Amino acid sequence: MEAGIVGLPNVGKSTLFNAITSSGAAQAANYPFCTIEPNEGIVSVPDDRLRRISALIVPKKLVPAVLKLVDIAGIVKGASEGEGLGNKFLSHIRQVDAILQVVRCFEDPDVIHVSGKVDPLSDIDTIETELMLADLEALETSLQKANRTAKSGDKEAKLRAAAIEKCLAHLSAELPLRKLVLDDAEAKAIASFGLLTAKPILFVANVDETDLEGKGPLVMKVREHAAKIGASVVPVCAKLEAEIAELEESERGEMLASVGLAQPALTVLAQEAYRTLGLQSYFTAGEKEVRAWTVPVGATAPQAAGVIHTDFEKGFIRAEVYTLADLETYKSEKEIRAAGKLRVEGKSYIMQDGDICHFLFNT
Ligand code: GDP
Repeated sequence: MEAGIVGLPNVGKSTLFNAITSSGAAQAANYPFCTIEPNEGIVSVPDDRLRRISALIVPKKLVPAVLKLVDIAGIVKGASEGEGLGNKFLSHIRQVDAILQVVRCFEDPDVIHVSGKVDPLSDIDTIETELMLADLEALETSLQKANRTAKSGDKEAKLRAAAIEKCLAHLSAELPLRKLVLDDAEAKAIASFGLLTAKPILFVANVDETDLEGKGPLVMKVREHAAKIGASVVPVCAKLEAEIAELEESERGEMLASVGLAQPALTVLAQEAYRTLGLQSYFTAGEKEVRAWTVPVGATAPQAAGVIHTDFEKGFIRAEVYTLADLETYKSEKEIRAAGKLRVEGKSYIMQDGDICHFLFNT
């Protein structure tokens, strides 16, 4: 699962990406198109439940869940027609599972805005339009192909053509595909296209240091827009986060306290991105390690086991499951078992967020 960071040039994408990965790999410079190759970074998803589990089952190692983030070079008006990095940018973004759109909400006369003024809604509109145009073009090409194949009586191609036409009608009404309801067969028919406006989106409002809570008028506009389309907004001051990320861990608390933040905004961002992707965690807990594993909401127990190792899924027998609440009540797995609270779940069990598990499997 990975999320792609997009946004117009000079909104703070590279600064944010640097802060997230603390890698210093992505270049932050005050001119458009400075990030040409997509940079990838792995970011851990902080989860307080790991700390609570390891307070009772003390492990040698704590392993949080991680997300892959890709820094995707600047979109500009006309990207779908090959402006700026155009098509190159579009091919990168087709591969991600969700979009994190950085929206400039900071004022700084030293940082040029590509369209001359800071206007987050217009920026969002520019990007959405480019994504819609790119989807239109991709779908029109696919429709021609599907129609040609359908002529020879290919049923799948006929179904694909119908699904494509449904998408085209939706886009022609200037609506992104995110909200279009497709049945399973239709969704499957177009799944390989990587349609951009069908991907879930999360807005990262890059705020001024004076508006860390994101209550200023520019961010409020972004919030209103996001509420309308059912998306979330995370206010982040990329510049400040980059400074915090450069500090030693021991110094971060003091810095956060001095600016009045309870935790780095990046923590909130990682958690929100995880939710936007429709992901949840389950845990394995033993003396060797306490670890969070990532599964899509709705995953079955064998699918969850498969995240650890494909053999676990193939040879799945059953899962033994308990909750953090059980652990905090009974203090140890042994006592949970003795109290009859260790559940035995089979192949059709749907994993619940926060389950603590052992998997039993045949090799
Ligand atoms: P990108 O083109 O979207 O990747 O933007 P960059 O990350 O390269 O940032 C462009 C410029 O804006 C750089 O000079 C950054 O230092 C500056 N910048 C980024 N975030 C902030 C912020 O939160 N506040 C201010 N004042 N400047 C920022």
